[in-house]
Amino acid sequence: MNIACTICLDRFFLSSTISASPCGHLFHDKCLDRWLIDERKKTCPQCRTSITPKQILKKLYLMEPLCQTQVPSGGQDSSELLNQLETQETKILECEQRCRKALNDLQKVNEYYYILLL
Ligand SMILES: [Zn+2]
Ligand SMILES: [Zn+2]
Repeated sequence: MNIACTICLDRFFLSSTISASPCGHLFHDKCLDRWLIDERKKTCPQCRTSITPKQILKKLYLMEPLCQTQVPSGGQDSSELLNQLETQETKILECEQRCRKALNDLQKVNEYYYILLL
């Protein structure tokens, strides 16, 4: 890639974090921050169009593919899922209790047999 940041004159690497000005010029994220905020400049370093920090498109990543995180649409789905989860958990608890009771009964039966054998 043959594009350079006009502030520090370094070329962009695939891993660089890049900010874009509203006029379409690209700079290192940090270089542009320094230019606009630390030096209080109000123009694009490249073409001198007047810009404000709010107009900067921050953090363009050249390399990483667009993040496609799937956010569940609407809150309804997740609350329904939560309900289902709670129902399942209740069922598991019930099973556990039944298991324990069965074990207890089994123990009692064992003890009973033991007494009988004596
Ligand atoms: Zn730079
Ligand atoms: Zn520009």
